[in-house]
Amino acid sequence: MKIDFANLQYQHNLYKEEIEESILKVARNCNFIMGNEVTELEKSLEEFTDAKYAITCSNGTDALLLAMMALDIKPGDEVITTPFTFIATAEMIAFLGAIPVFVDIDEKTYNINPDLIEEKITSKTKAIIPVSLYGQPSDMNKINQISKKYNLKVIIDGAQSFGSTFNGISDSTLGDISTTSFFPAKPLGCYGDGGAVFTNDEKLAIKMKSLRLHGQSKRYHHQYIGIGGRLDTIQAAVLNVKLKYYKKDLAKRAEVASKYTKALENKSNLILPYVDTKSTSAWAQYSIRVKNRDEIQNKLKKVGIPTAVHYPMPLHLQECFKYLGYNKGDFPISEVVSEEIMSLPMNPYITDEEIEYIVKNL
Ligand SMILES: *Cc1c(COP(=O)(O)O)cnc(C)c1O
Repeated sequence: MKIDFANLQYQHNLYKEEIEESILKVARNCNFIMGNEVTELEKSLEEFTDAKYAITCSNGTDALLLAMMALDIKPGDEVITTPFTFIATAEMIAFLGAIPVFVDIDEKTYNINPDLIEEKITSKTKAIIPVSLYGQPSDMNKINQISKKYNLKVIIDGAQSFGSTFNGISDSTLGDISTTSFFPAKPLGCYGDGGAVFTNDEKLAIKMKSLRLHGQSKRYHHQYIGIGGRLDTIQAAVLNVKLKYYKKDLAKRAEVASKYTKALENKSNLILPYVDTKSTSAWAQYSIRVKNRDEIQNKLKKVGIPTAVHYPMPLHLQECFKYLGYNKGDFPISEVVSEEIMSLPMNPYITDEEIEYIVKNL
């Protein structure tokens, strides 16, 4: 058997006629930049998330940048986040000249541990960026309480968690600003790069719309220093089709996850994903912990089962962040999880037969 990790090919075939027609329509109309499809997508994203404003942009990295620029994060400001995430989260903090301040993760959810945040707050702290890792929101009750107490802003990096909830509320509306990514392998992916920011705050929405278009207030009049951060019309055209089926995809991902868990529950040498009872996950990944990861990955590869590691090195140990002065041992949970974590194939289309085969080989 040969198993596909994200199975984008299968998904394309499933929605082929509609998606290809949608792309062709853009090609025929030549409205490549900020076409109607973009506005249509933003409306649908607002409906889907209950966010007052959804603003699409070039990718999930620029979404973080737009959010921080809108909140006036400046050189020397401190921004608290997790070291166990994709580089972009802390990279964009540093890109603005601000200082990423890391806080270790919770042992069960692998999200930032809210109980360790307060001790890292200083007079320079401006914001907290929790990441909804593998699709599950962080403990937003605790994080929003802390942000209120210290008057901090909260940006949720929801690149992996579009469609997830905490206390029944969309991950996209739980912070001052939430971001997401439509990178092809994310739960809701387009056919290239794409992203979005979400907010309920009108002022922030207006500012982010402007920042995305070079800070312009009207054409060739520039109120802010911004970026070229638009979503292509063609990507919006793809997403307009895929979003219609996304609720179904999410349900199927959850079903695959629960089948994995049921089948692996009794294997005492594995640590399985944990989703808090207050949360639902978008199941971007189904990630387990194993002791002898390299060996297991190699063996699975030989029998046609691809695996991946999200992520093998926590950010405080990355070369680019050497200047921050962190050392090995500073965030012990992030360090041990990065050594043991391994993601199994995850997509809405995995069959029972495939799950059985993966479980048997594990
Ligand atoms: C994928 C990802 C990003 C970046 O998204 P892009 O669209 O690839 O720029 C940021 N943060 C996290 C947690 C991600 O997983």
